[in-house]
Amino acid sequence: MADVTIANVHKHFGGVHAVNDVSLQIHDREFLVLLGPSGCGKTTLLRMIAGLEAPSAGEIRIGDRLVNFVPPKDRDVAMVFQNYALYPHMDVAENITLGLKLRHTAKGEIGSRLTAAAEWLRLDGLLERMPRQLSGGQQQRVALGRSVVREPKVFLMDEPLSNLDARLRVHTRAELIKLHRRLGATIVYVTHDQSEAMTMATRVAIMRDGVLQQCDAPLQVYRHPANKYVAAFMGNPEMNFLLATPQQEGGQWVLSGEGYRLAVPPQRGAALAPYVDRQVWVGMRPEAITLAPANGAGFGIPAVVDVVSPMGGNSLVYALVNGEEIVADVSSDLEPALGDRVTLAVDPSRIHAFDRESEIALW
Ligand code: ATP
Repeated sequence: MADVTIANVHKHFGGVHAVNDVSLQIHDREFLVLLGPSGCGKTTLLRMIAGLEAPSAGEIRIGDRLVNFVPPKDRDVAMVFQNYALYPHMDVAENITLGLKLRHTAKGEIGSRLTAAAEWLRLDGLLERMPRQLSGGQQQRVALGRSVVREPKVFLMDEPLSNLDARLRVHTRAELIKLHRRLGATIVYVTHDQSEAMTMATRVAIMRDGVLQQCDAPLQVYRHPANKYVAAFMGNPEMNFLLATPQQEGGQWVLSGEGYRLAVPPQRGAALAPYVDRQVWVGMRPEAITLAPANGAGFGIPAVVDVVSPMGGNSLVYALVNGEEIVADVSSDLEPALGDRVTLAVDPSRIHAFDRESEIALW
């Protein structure tokens, strides 16, 4: 079993609290993505699992074994880092297979693992090249190959696709998903790119300033973000936010702001009741917003179309609401003109709300 258990782990670098009381159970054979912006502590957490940093406090276990004091080479983990270090005087095949040779793996076995990895990573024609004869993306694939052939229990990957061009990144993403399925290995993968988390993760753990914010399946996080920070981080374009005040009008719950009113389903009433006449953050994903002609009355957000970005089947419409930009993801058939006055209609069942101070989700 290759569960990784992280229990109340801290890491201090002088005055920097890089990882702050993180507890996380990474399940055997899971593809767990650590997600967050630069500096949130995700690399430090990964390096502690690898054994390249020691926790200041807390415990890390791989399977049942406490590994806080186990050196990296004895942890049965393989690492692929942003800064891949290939041996410059060895060709690609030697770089990939060096670890196997050092472990005295049988020659035939080395050959078959090399062939499989080269095919998988599209390195077949490059095996005899030296690292200096490779592009950055190719070097990164060699680094991936080196870890794959070892067939470790746990793969630790730190932005391994960051040097690949956009097409190759999408291809390698799909291949990583297949690799994960085929090897039945546990993968812990660090990225700041929410689309990588969305497409590959079985679960995603989102960090902020060293603190774990939420850990769940990507779509679950997308649909039910724990707080405003997570809501903004998962999704592209980002969720839109406006301030509004909950009120009950007859039997209907309404969130009203400066010039706009949004209907909320009755089952949200209990969560909104403590906030009557106090402002909350309202969150709306771009795809929960449609464009309606300006109607003056009723529900919706009056706005002025500022930018239209056609994407093919859909268009991103950026509209101004009291000087704030709101983006709607609508059918490209709509083709609004710049300067058009429109009403943004929001699907009531897809409205999010967050406490204004704590930013915790109200539902
Ligand atoms: P990135 O995506 O930029 O790599 P990250 O989320 O992986 O960012 P970390 O590299 O884990 O972030 O860094 C977390 C915090 O710890 C940052 O404030 C960073 O400056 C600090 N830090 C990391 N390593 C060290 C170190 N060796 N000495 C001092 N501070 C460090």
